[in-house]
Amino acid sequence: MAFDLEKIVRPNIWRLQPYSCARDEFKGRPAKVFLDANESPYNNPYNRYPDPMQEELKALLSKVKGVPAESIFLGNGSDEAIDLVYRIFCTPGVDNVVAIEPTYGMYSVCADINDVEYRTVLLDDNYRLNADKVLQAVDDRTKAIWLCTPNNPTGNSLERAQIEKILDNFTGIVIVDEAYSDFAAVRPFRVDLGRWPNLVVLNTFSKAWGCAAIRLGMAFASKDIIGLFNKVKYPYNVNELTQQKAIAMLKDLGKVNQWLASIRSERAKVIAAFAELPVCEKVFDTDANFFLARVKDANAIYNYLIDCGIVVRNRHRVKLCGNCLRITVGTPNENIELLAALRRYK
Ligand SMILES: *Cc1c(COP(=O)(O)O)cnc(C)c1O
Repeated sequence: MAFDLEKIVRPNIWRLQPYSCARDEFKGRPAKVFLDANESPYNNPYNRYPDPMQEELKALLSKVKGVPAESIFLGNGSDEAIDLVYRIFCTPGVDNVVAIEPTYGMYSVCADINDVEYRTVLLDDNYRLNADKVLQAVDDRTKAIWLCTPNNPTGNSLERAQIEKILDNFTGIVIVDEAYSDFAAVRPFRVDLGRWPNLVVLNTFSKAWGCAAIRLGMAFASKDIIGLFNKVKYPYNVNELTQQKAIAMLKDLGKVNQWLASIRSERAKVIAAFAELPVCEKVFDTDANFFLARVKDANAIYNYLIDCGIVVRNRHRVKLCGNCLRITVGTPNENIELLAALRRYK
């Protein structure tokens, strides 16, 4: 089965002539007087429109992520990339997508906003992926399959062989959301982009990079798919303050790596201590900066923790997650506070 990009892109998007902004047109030649974009000449540097293609930032990211700059799309959080997948590939009211369940909520919210049918395939009781079940849910109107590894809210990495089977056998787009891959020990799909023309990998500055506030998400894919993202995005979708902060972070990798090491070692400690608590029934395996735990009474314990000033995520109402709390790994002191509060719970 051959992958044919033109066949799976919405015809109106394939034909689309993108908006050409002032900065796109002059690009590349030296200039010192900018009278092309109706900006104010005052209040430097905030008066100037940001680089629409974020070239300096992408050049740095390319080195850190091991992905060519032309294979990188940057957006206003991963949320923008998720929404763009629907807008590029799915004709509202006609096409559908398939996703695992439970998983990250934005895939289904964006499907609803775009009026795209959202089909789900349940993971097994240990949150494992079965490629055949996912492929069975596909029909000739299925444009995309959503996978998330490590998965949110379960925390586990999906089995690589199962993901590869889906990539090999599905002729639409396969999105592998690796928002948490920095915390995992397994090989990320990002570095194998060249193997699959239908692969889109998502990464974010919101987790390991400690930059949820700046709203910066990444999509990695073939040059042709990235071209479609660039055609459809708002011209200045990543603001200048965000670009500058991200560039500063990329020049300070040592700090990010220290945070990562701390979170990994704290994760092991918190999980071991949590498993010993009287309230704990089970802690699920995790490759992320959070863990899912089954407790005696999730609603009661969630409310008790709120009264202690500690907020965790109650996943009791999510399929396969009855009586489960999703708990983020914090600083050593935050983790001690959580465990102490739970030891006092009666
Ligand atoms: C947190 C998270 C993201 C990040 O979204 P942003 O919009 O980049 O903040 C993406 N995917 C998953 C699965 C997440 O849990």
